[in-house]
Amino acid sequence: MSAPSWAAELVASVCADAGVAPPRLAWRRRAGEHSTGVTRRTEEVVSVRAGSDELDQRLTLLHELAHWLTPMPRRRGTHHGRAFYTTAFELYRRHGLAAADALRLESGRYRSSLRHAVALGVPGARAALAEHRARLRAQPRRRWRVLVPEHAVRLARDGRWTVCVTCRQRIVGMNLARIRRARRAVRHVLMGSGA
Ligand SMILES: [Zn+2]
Ligand SMILES: [Zn+2]
Repeated sequence: MSAPSWAAELVASVCADAGVAPPRLAWRRRAGEHSTGVTRRTEEVVSVRAGSDELDQRLTLLHELAHWLTPMPRRRGTHHGRAFYTTAFELYRRHGLAAADALRLESGRYRSSLRHAVALGVPGARAALAEHRARLRAQPRRRWRVLVPEHAVRLARDGRWTVCVTCRQRIVGMNLARIRRARRAVRHVLMGSGA
């Protein structure tokens, strides 16, 4: 499926402004409201799976173009850092997204974007961040309680799983390997979150 003309034009115009060669644009539909996107530098392609919300399609494409324009971060984890958001929020502003929409849609994917938006002086960002923090504070903390008191783990099969005989908790992966290797019985507690 080929990209809608507005999207192709947006890619051309953003890249021309920045003086960089445009990526190839791959466009597919997906069910649901939200779009997803990915930028593959080595293949020089930006792919969008477009949901039904047109504003979100636009933001998603601009988000990927911001990746295209932003030099690759040296460290992993800074993929959505300050350099990226400097480019992204500028693209959102220049290409027709109201600040409120940009903040809402972007922070719906990446909460950390609000912090960057505040530092970049995006209008309304400070209020949006305050509101987000207030919402977090208002949420009741999960109360954890002990469901089965501390005991030595004894392994047993339960269908395709390995479980602890005492509390029936599934033991998988690294934990399972560790427990199997241990010379002395490993002890654990089964916790659960009660309302
Ligand atoms: Zn991204
Ligand atoms: Zn147990």
